[in-house]
Amino acid sequence: MSLKLDGKKLSLEIEEKLKNYIYLNKTTVKRNPGLAVIRIGEDPASGVYVKNKEKACSRVGIESFIFHLKETVEQKEVEQLINKLNLDNNIDGMLLQLPIPKKFDEQKLISFINPEKDVDGLNEKNIGKLVKNESAMRSCTPAGIINLLRSQNIIIEGKNIVVIGRSLLVGKPLSLMLLNLNGTVTMTHSKTINLNKICKEADILIAAAGKPNLVDSSFVKEGAVIIDVGIHRLTSTDKSKTRLCGDVLLEDVIPKVFAYTPVPGGVGPMTVTMLLVNTIFSWQKQFGLSSTLNNLLP
Ligand code: NAP
Repeated sequence: MSLKLDGKKLSLEIEEKLKNYIYLNKTTVKRNPGLAVIRIGEDPASGVYVKNKEKACSRVGIESFIFHLKETVEQKEVEQLINKLNLDNNIDGMLLQLPIPKKFDEQKLISFINPEKDVDGLNEKNIGKLVKNESAMRSCTPAGIINLLRSQNIIIEGKNIVVIGRSLLVGKPLSLMLLNLNGTVTMTHSKTINLNKICKEADILIAAAGKPNLVDSSFVKEGAVIIDVGIHRLTSTDKSKTRLCGDVLLEDVIPKVFAYTPVPGGVGPMTVTMLLVNTIFSWQKQFGLSSTLNNLLP
């Protein structure tokens, strides 16, 4: 039987450790860690994600500060808010909830975030440190995936690993993390020729293409590990029901693989947990606390 890589269970286990860590240290430093979330506009999915982050923070003892800005706000005003939060001693972490409306220069805003507070790990300084394999904030979804693999002692070193997708958010940082851990990584994308054949060579196949059910059993080697990053909400033809699915046609693939991540309950919960880890990592650094969390940041 295939092994389910249960992100929900692992995220709760990590959260328990984070909660204890904050509890043990907050009397010394006299304040809880603080996370600022900037949301611009009314994208409904972003609203749900921000709420989930707020709830996760309160579960472990991180104070969250939500800044919900109107779409009519100017780029300059957002930059000023980021600068203000950069200087705020009660804020250890800060993120810009993506996507933001097209009129904003997203990369410029991210580059304004103090790298020490960049809990999404998207600032060029943190990406640079990842390229150099130096300790820093790591982007949350890729770091969550590495922790899921490690939790089941799935070996990365020396394995053939194929990543579908090369986004700044997932595919690229994930490929670098796997490379730093001595995986033999192939990064693929929408212009890759013979994707199916390349994927079939993978010991570990990671699908982050954002295409529902792209990967079926014909992409998968017998005994491989398959990680599904995609999240899609599919609506039935009469629009009465919705269900979540990933980039992988799981029912077709599961009988063939050694291990897989479900959707929902696989990669998603780990992403939020890694945001908490990054926020506490920054708090820990600021106050020179003992570092028991560093092994969670690949
Ligand atoms: P993205 O920015 O749209 O990037 C998608 C990548 O996949 C691109 O590099 C694209 O190639 C490649 N691609 C698209 N179609 C392909 C195909 N048919 N064959 C091969 N490659 C293909 O998306 P993203 O932000 O990386 O997110 C990917 C998925 O993960 C989405 O479903 C997203 O919702 C989900 N996600 C989940 C979490 C989580 O916590 N579970 C977090 C982040 C994202 P090109 O570069 O050539 O265009």
